[in-house]
Amino acid sequence: EETIPALDLSGVVSGYEDTTVLRGVSLTVPRGTAVALLGPNGAGKTTLLRTVCGLLRPTAGRVEMEGTDITRLAPHRRARLGLCHIPEGRGIFRSLTVRENLIMQSFPGGESAAIERAVEAFPVLGERLTQTAGTLSGGQQQMLAMAQAHVRSPKLILVDEASLGLAPVIVDEIFAFLQAVSAEGTSLLLVDQFVVRALGIATTAYVLRRGEIVFGGPAAELMSEDVFARYVGGA
Ligand code: ATP
Repeated sequence: EETIPALDLSGVVSGYEDTTVLRGVSLTVPRGTAVALLGPNGAGKTTLLRTVCGLLRPTAGRVEMEGTDITRLAPHRRARLGLCHIPEGRGIFRSLTVRENLIMQSFPGGESAAIERAVEAFPVLGERLTQTAGTLSGGQQQMLAMAQAHVRSPKLILVDEASLGLAPVIVDEIFAFLQAVSAEGTSLLLVDQFVVRALGIATTAYVLRRGEIVFGGPAAELMSEDVFARYVGGA
């Protein structure tokens, strides 16, 4: 049903052994849209993505994916439901080749289709299939991480700081890819230091500060100067 969101968090409390980071976070990613999650360093953005993908378990609250309660589900079961997490630092296997990294994400018998799909998205990967992933440039490694996600045709992708440390021209390519994926109907939850770019492809934006949502609304609203200054600038 159209009205069931891709992702819905309500009252999520989560963090690490001795530290509560998220203090009752509620957030919705409507199906087929991109949502930007902004906020200063240490606000809890990465913690939120880790909680959604199941690496961290909330101590209170609920996480739903397409109406299914996934709060206590193991990460691999969430992946099977169509959730994909591209972590900060990319999460690729540096000692394996590009081809091996891609094949690992493919369905049995779907190896060549997976490689085709990846190369279609990022042609440069096609020229480097036998190269060890750790020897790719930072930008190419990020493209591989994106391609790995793409190969699985996920319903929802969590993207953590994809553009960190990359040249502007590569960042353009990464964002163009994310925009295309979003236009195809994949839902996205994006954390990125390039706030304006993230807002450019997002329909909705949330601002997290000290583990609490302090703004949630249309991305366009945050683009206005005073609202931006109030919630994002000078945080
Ligand atoms: P950044 O942009 O700097 O990554 P963030 O908004 O993603 O910031 P988090 O990485 O989620 O923030 O960190 C939120 C808080 O959790 C910080 O105070 C951080 O020190 C703490 N934290 C992060 N990882 C751990 C960990 N493994 N164990 C304990 N505390 C952690």
